[in-house]
Amino acid sequence: MNDLVLVLNAGSSSLKYQLLQPDSSLVLASGLVERIGEPGTRARTRHTVGGGSTTEGEVDAPDHTGAMALVLDLFATVGPSLDGVTAVGHRVVHGGDRFRAPTLVTSEVLAAIEDLVPLAPLHNPANLAGIRAAQAALPDVPHVAVFDTAFHQTLPPHAYTYAVPQAWREEHRVRRYGFHGTSHAYVSRRLAELLGGPVADAQVIVLHLGNGASAAAVAGGRCIDTSMGLSPLEGLVMGTRPGDLDPALAGYLAARGIPLADYDHALNTASGLLGLTGTNDFREVMSLLDAGNPDARLAVDLVAYRLAKYVGAYAVALGSLHGIAFTAGIGEHSAPLRAAVLARLGLLGIRLDPRRNAEGPPERPITTQDSAVPVWVVPTAEELEIAQQALAALQALSASEMPRL
Ligand code: ADP
Repeated sequence: MNDLVLVLNAGSSSLKYQLLQPDSSLVLASGLVERIGEPGTRARTRHTVGGGSTTEGEVDAPDHTGAMALVLDLFATVGPSLDGVTAVGHRVVHGGDRFRAPTLVTSEVLAAIEDLVPLAPLHNPANLAGIRAAQAALPDVPHVAVFDTAFHQTLPPHAYTYAVPQAWREEHRVRRYGFHGTSHAYVSRRLAELLGGPVADAQVIVLHLGNGASAAAVAGGRCIDTSMGLSPLEGLVMGTRPGDLDPALAGYLAARGIPLADYDHALNTASGLLGLTGTNDFREVMSLLDAGNPDARLAVDLVAYRLAKYVGAYAVALGSLHGIAFTAGIGEHSAPLRAAVLARLGLLGIRLDPRRNAEGPPERPITTQDSAVPVWVVPTAEELEIAQQALAALQALSASEMPRL
């Protein structure tokens, strides 16, 4: 049966969506509403049917409820029909240690996501607004929450524990959670398939390099370590976030008159590539580099060096390494960055094939036949993964177990 799943990804001022057939991976429609609730400007919509026609508009969307109404209107007027949608899958950023799997949304689940807002103050409120708006708009369809953190709930205690006071860990839930879980789940499984051996034995590293970036070490389908932590700030150098820092920085800057709120804001929005070069767009960083800009040179070196350090660390964590995947905007598209990372990994016997790295199908190996570890580009498919997980969660709930919505 060709189930249809509507996948929603609600950000603070955006609502992205895809209508998919999880069994065939077919995308029937996709789009977004952006600039929701931004003062002094109207929201923008873009709705694409299949691989074809795109409808764009400027509309009023004061909040996520308004944005959801616009999305339903686009499906009703432009198509395709949402009749027969089996489920709505919602991306939810933080599931804490409570949610280890996709979960049918009930009022209790909504309360639990609300309870996790202190851990993800920038993301969970928007996710909740999206779920509530969608539930009101599509009340007869089951809604399933798919958590960015869930895939990392298999981390062993030595990987997720911070060596901080017990009270912080127990009363304030301080630990590594990790993010980008749906992408890491999809890409690690896909890479394991591509490597040809049993998926259950594959020991792989996934480098998800988009605006946000994280690495994950996955053994036999279970994540054993990941670079983002309590929040998405930790780990790799990202578009606007610095990744790893000395925790003393907060106190040092506070003593120099920088309030905690400014510190937090700067680390989330003005650091990383933006802080180093003036732009968070990696394509622009590469243009600056080509023009001989020294800040861009330093930024690319820093990004590649940090990535190579994580690969080295995760090779040790895994014990043996069967493959590495680059994914997301930068990972899939920047051959120079991939080359810069692999150039630092000679110790692992990794040998880049410059021709395969430069061009080929979106999903391809980029190392030579004799490379000790094959490295692949694997396009991520977060919406497909959310749709498949949402459907699987519903199928796992037998009719008798299905709670009242
Ligand atoms: P998000 O985390 O917002 O989903 P993406 O996965 O779309 O981000 O990645 C966005 C990043 O990918 C941006 O820094 C962008 O410049 C970069 N990117 C996209 N296409 C290319 C390309 N052809 N070459 C280099 N970088 C690219």
